[in-house]
Amino acid sequence: MREVRVCSLPKVLAMTELPRTERSPRIRKPASFALPPHLADRDAICRTFSWAEARRHLAGLPGGGLNIAAEAVDRYANGARRDHAAIVWLGADGGRLVLTYGDLQRLANRFANALTALGVARGERLFILAPRIPALYVAALGALKAGVVVSPLFSAFGPEPIATRMNLGGGRVLVTTAALYARKVAPVREQIPTLAHVLLADCAAGDELPSAGHDLDALLREASDEFVTVATQPDELALLHFTSGTTGKPKGAMHVHEAVVAHWATGMYALDLHPEDVFWCTADPGWVTGMSYGIIAPLVHGVTMIVDEAEFDPLRWYRILQDERVSVWYTAPTAIRMLMKAGSELARDFRFERLRFIASVGEPLNPQGVWWGLDTFGLPIHDNWWQTETGGIMIANTVAQDIKPGSMGRPLPGIEAFVVQRHQGGVEVIDTPDVEGELALRRGWPSMFRGYLNDEERYRKCFAGDLYLTGDLVKRDAEGYYWFVGRTDDVIKSAGHLIGPFEVESALMEHPAVAEAGVIGKPDPVLGETVKAFVALKSGFEPSEALRRELLGHARKRLGPSVAPKEIDFAPRLPRTRSGKIMRRLLRARELGLPEGDTSTLEADK
Ligand code: AMP
Repeated sequence: MREVRVCSLPKVLAMTELPRTERSPRIRKPASFALPPHLADRDAICRTFSWAEARRHLAGLPGGGLNIAAEAVDRYANGARRDHAAIVWLGADGGRLVLTYGDLQRLANRFANALTALGVARGERLFILAPRIPALYVAALGALKAGVVVSPLFSAFGPEPIATRMNLGGGRVLVTTAALYARKVAPVREQIPTLAHVLLADCAAGDELPSAGHDLDALLREASDEFVTVATQPDELALLHFTSGTTGKPKGAMHVHEAVVAHWATGMYALDLHPEDVFWCTADPGWVTGMSYGIIAPLVHGVTMIVDEAEFDPLRWYRILQDERVSVWYTAPTAIRMLMKAGSELARDFRFERLRFIASVGEPLNPQGVWWGLDTFGLPIHDNWWQTETGGIMIANTVAQDIKPGSMGRPLPGIEAFVVQRHQGGVEVIDTPDVEGELALRRGWPSMFRGYLNDEERYRKCFAGDLYLTGDLVKRDAEGYYWFVGRTDDVIKSAGHLIGPFEVESALMEHPAVAEAGVIGKPDPVLGETVKAFVALKSGFEPSEALRRELLGHARKRLGPSVAPKEIDFAPRLPRTRSGKIMRRLLRARELGLPEGDTSTLEADK
């Protein structure tokens, strides 16, 4: 039985650090719309919606087949939208490349042929570790066409998270760049025995290839433009997304081709995508948002999507929104807070004439962020909620509904949400408004994960009957709006990225000076949380500034900058339960000066 308690307080604490403005607790829906909203009458659509009916809007393949890439690419490339821009790619160095649906199909077909020629079979796993370059998109779609399972890795990961995930996933193929391979994969290559092919996206003439390495451009040049997309079955594995828990190794959430039905429905109802939209999802495809909404959902709707290779830069972002005439923008609270911090005056010289809808996901969005959208763009920011396991947006503020700033909105059509409390014998559904409990969803939506790879037990524990228990604490108000309260576990959300404390602790423990390590999320006004570690040293080692810096460097090198701790404190010993588990909750309470709560299981001082 998991104890229900609030571990994440970033929302409350972060808000106190931002300028406070007294604004209305409700933003009324607009009186008129640039385009007729898909979810104009939410209640009526929720009453009549069915997933079976939604499925009929997709093309499908012979024999009842369904393939994400067929819906995202072939459907448009084989029809009137063949010459419509699918991807507008903006290079970090100022380059701009437009790929039409026809181009994307040709390249994805070549990639699928190249995989087949290498002997990579349907169901095998391909990992992608790359910056947001065109090859990433071609590889993901080409692999899906061939029925090969795609698993994206965040390019800022260090060697350790990469090796762990590729190992767990049994990765047969890796698509990456020469630079990333040399820095991050070569040092751990022998830890990934299943890896049979490394496809390098940016080989220069004369480059020496690693063992089993191939020049991806050369493979694509030689491959045929024609490929018959594999008629995968709706429940066939398509995507493997790694996510973090509190304990143990990362979990490989398994998603199937049928998930595309949810990407289609949520692209319509949560993001209000229309055919002439230019859509920009700022998430990196190394994370689930960047795959579900940075690749699949926009293409399934046949719209033009923006891909920006560069890292966050306020002026660049405003210029993209203006010059690329972005109409629907999906971003994240950390990015919004960074834009707020950079100052709204930066936006004044730009005109966002086509922008009509802004949404955000990944962490709590402060009410100030919602209002900042109104002040800066004349549009509020619509918070929505989902997680790796749900595969797509579940709860959302939508275009034609009132917004209550600070709330993540209401369940989308086809989604039944509940507030539950766990008890010894199961869960109790709480109907009374404003009572805190765990968010649960009735299973049955198509993008629901179908298992954690090789961990049936962990998967089973996520369900009580037909309810999937999300691990998030929420409240629902009398009007059905959901309010995020915190997590039921110790995972950390930093800049929207989920980080497992265990993975960080394990990397620290590999340092010869470290006897034990405990890792927590520390509230941060911009990033939501930052990773902080507490370390007890082995005898013979003394705390010092030099050692602290060495440990920070050690963790950064192994884990990468997005996962490694930003702060390390030394402690003579760490609080543990009598069964030996580090009490991160206590470390966190002590760090933040909060009540220590129940310490009855604390191991007595020796
Ligand atoms: P991930 O699986 O990495 O996408 O992380 C999912 C988790 O991020 C959720 O379980 C929540 O804890 C958090 N999250 C996502 N969206 C929101 C939101 N709109 N408000 C608050 N927390 C969110």
